[in-house]
Amino acid sequence: MLTSGINSQTNDIPPELSRFRTNKTIPAILEKNVLTALSFYPELTDTSIHFVFKQAIKSSVMQAQPVFSSLLASRNKRAYRINISALFKLTHTAIPIHQLPDAIMIGWIGHELGHIMDYESRTNLEMVGFGLGYVFSAAYVKKVERIADQYAVTHGLGQYLIHTKRFILDHAELPQAYKDKIARLYVSPEEITEQVRTLEEQKLEMQKRAL
Ligand SMILES: [Zn+2]
Repeated sequence: MLTSGINSQTNDIPPELSRFRTNKTIPAILEKNVLTALSFYPELTDTSIHFVFKQAIKSSVMQAQPVFSSLLASRNKRAYRINISALFKLTHTAIPIHQLPDAIMIGWIGHELGHIMDYESRTNLEMVGFGLGYVFSAAYVKKVERIADQYAVTHGLGQYLIHTKRFILDHAELPQAYKDKIARLYVSPEEITEQVRTLEEQKLEMQKRAL
């Protein structure tokens, strides 16, 4: 009998989350965190996104990309895939990715969904240019990683994102090369904290004016 606890976290998806399942395929064990992250992006409610476990992704943990064949069809048929490394590799060991704390997973997926928001604003031809830029230019990588974070922050995922970034940068057992890459190409947790503060100040200011 297979009654392991593997589905224990997936049993009760509250109704306010299950409505974000439209046009998505999600591994059961990640479902709650993925749906939570999706709930911050109502614009992506109908967008086709497949969340796929991979054994290994080269020097990366998650990766958002368009389904290539869908770039040959019209833009409203576009589909995306978010590859997720099944194992989170540490220097001497590895842990299954779904064992990461919820807030860190939500921040991480929220960042990937920020990439998809960015892709949604690009034509099919621009998406091809995006692929080339990402492969050949570190400056381009920096720019688009910043855009993805910006979407996550403005959609209310700032605190989650800070958790994720701190976790990566402070994790003693992550390979130094990976941490160096993150520090070199990605927006720092300090800067995200600053962006969240600015955003909250703006909101307060608007509320005051509305009174
Ligand atoms: Zn990214």
